Amino acid sequence: LSKLDSTQTKLSTKMEQNKPIPYAAVVEVFDKIESTTKRLEIIKYTSDFFLQVLQTNPDDLVQITYLFINRLGPDYEGLELGLGETILIKTISESTGKSTAQVKSKYRETGDLGLIALQARSVQPTMFKPKPLTVSTVFNNLKDIATASGKDSQSKKINIIKRMLTASQGLEAKFLIRSLESKLRIGLAEKTVLISLAKALVTFQNKKVSTDLFVKAEEKIRDAFCQVPNYEVIVKTAIEYGVLELDKHCTLKPGIPLKPMLAKPTKSITEVLDKFTGEDFTCEYKYDGERAQVHLLNDGNVRVYSRNSEDMSQRYPDIIDAVKGFLKSNVGTTSLILDCEAVAWSRDENKILPFQVLTTRKRKDVDIKDIKVQVCLFAFDILCLNDEPVIYKPLKERRELLYKTLQEVPGKFQFATSKNTSDMEELQQFLDQSVKDSCEGLMVKTLDNDPYRPSQRSNSWLKLKKDYLAGVGDSLDLIVIGAYYGRGKRTGTYGGFLLGSYNQDSEEIETCCKIGTGFSDEILKTLYEKLSKTEIDISKPYVKYDSSAEPDVWFEPTLLFEVLTADLSLSPVYKAGSSIYGRGISLRFPRFIRLRDDKNIEDATSSEQVIDFYERQAHRQ
Ligand code: ATP
Repeated sequence: LSKLDSTQTKLSTKMEQNKPIPYAAVVEVFDKIESTTKRLEIIKYTSDFFLQVLQTNPDDLVQITYLFINRLGPDYEGLELGLGETILIKTISESTGKSTAQVKSKYRETGDLGLIALQARSVQPTMFKPKPLTVSTVFNNLKDIATASGKDSQSKKINIIKRMLTASQGLEAKFLIRSLESKLRIGLAEKTVLISLAKALVTFQNKKVSTDLFVKAEEKIRDAFCQVPNYEVIVKTAIEYGVLELDKHCTLKPGIPLKPMLAKPTKSITEVLDKFTGEDFTCEYKYDGERAQVHLLNDGNVRVYSRNSEDMSQRYPDIIDAVKGFLKSNVGTTSLILDCEAVAWSRDENKILPFQVLTTRKRKDVDIKDIKVQVCLFAFDILCLNDEPVIYKPLKERRELLYKTLQEVPGKFQFATSKNTSDMEELQQFLDQSVKDSCEGLMVKTLDNDPYRPSQRSNSWLKLKKDYLAGVGDSLDLIVIGAYYGRGKRTGTYGGFLLGSYNQDSEEIETCCKIGTGFSDEILKTLYEKLSKTEIDISKPYVKYDSSAEPDVWFEPTLLFEVLTADLSLSPVYKAGSSIYGRGISLRFPRFIRLRDDKNIEDATSSEQVIDFYERQAHRQ
């Protein structure tokens, strides 16, 4: 932030005091952002605009933030647009007077429905000048489209879109359509939006702004977002109390899922002992199921959220039903947030079942009566108790609170099995035992000094996965960005894929390997069905690759593969980590394990993690 200059970018769209912000202003900024790949410029365009909004009509800032991150509300509310191309092609054709065949053929040429809508609009005569679109009209219309249900919903949606297209001017049609597809494609990541909010708010609220204040504001807004991932709450609180006061007013509360703390991989017990020299630490079984953040609300409701803050309450009615029975009756708990792993459980044999069994459970509208795969919740942390955040306490104290507040109900609710030891042999035995007990290995955590750090991949949590000790210590979750046509037996599907890691600083995807091993014919077929729908004509500016690894087709990044590798090496062809080493780092002999559909693109293995893996390996050698 310190590198940003203080002159403000002016927009040609007029924004008037206390008047609704025109949608044209948003679109003008989108267009500027699309024209550059430089992150500092993107932050500048975005934060300068947010500042102007604060100066003219701050009430619109929440909706504007959502338009910038291309969502309609917090993840846990699950409101999604993502309209399919068929309905959009139909609407564009109806509202621009082109035939669907014409729109389709153009779409095949350009791969961008937004552009097609724009071109069709600009040659279309308008009889009268419609009222210009405002931010709130567009946002509320998008919300109406996302929530439309019932038998007329399709025509309701089409009518709303048509109304907006008719009113659109200049570039508006292009970005409207892209928002409706949930693909803004301007290279703007959420992290940049958060930084820009911090910059705009701190500039607006302080007479003199130093680098220190910028950095502080960025930290405060990021921390607040980890605890309360809800822009409405954060923006309104920051406007009311000041961005620098967010930590006092924006802390976790039951009903709002926080971003979970993550662990760093390790390759051996000796590495764990080296890292935790002089620290008091504990080892817990690393259960192989699904992360479940369990919230008990003051009104008695219970919710379960996923690793990605998705509301899984409908998937786990059995958990919802049972949670109150896990509370110790003499303690008087009114609300809490627990961090747990939900694991498939055999009631006949009283034992943990493999992760694959859990994936056979129905994902939506589960009726308790129909549940075939039972789960046991293994609790390993408590984050909030009676509305009081306890994440600032060290694990030793959190664990005491956990044991004091809850009681085990065998086969339904258990505390994570743990052992406090720094003895090499005991650790090895505990690791072996965890695997015998159907776990993946161990989580090793410091007990005394560290708080629970939402969303951070912290050095105070280490994972030791038994199966991966022979490789780089962990599997990687990489973004599928392109594919190569299959030959021979694989004709008709893709035969191999180009994968990349996510560079969280530049917000680019950096290639790190081709993969063609580990796929069954069946999975290749499924992948073709899923991915062929996401083919795009060219790579995006946010993919960093070398032409020697150019795939036959590029994809809109939507899927992650979990991949194993023997080791990592420097490569002239791949780009992960190339900002550090000049050359990139690539995976040797990568092997597909499974799809990771519980993670978003931003949750892919980061280029920084790839560098970390490589450096630990180089250090070993
Ligand atoms: P990552 O982003 O760290 O790769 P991941 O979702 O791929 O996350 P893992 O790397 O396998 O998961 O390890 C972390 C996960 O292990 C947690 O998100 C949680 O779901 C699970 N887990 C199981 N047992 C524990 C435990 N005792 N403590 C913390 N996490 C546990």
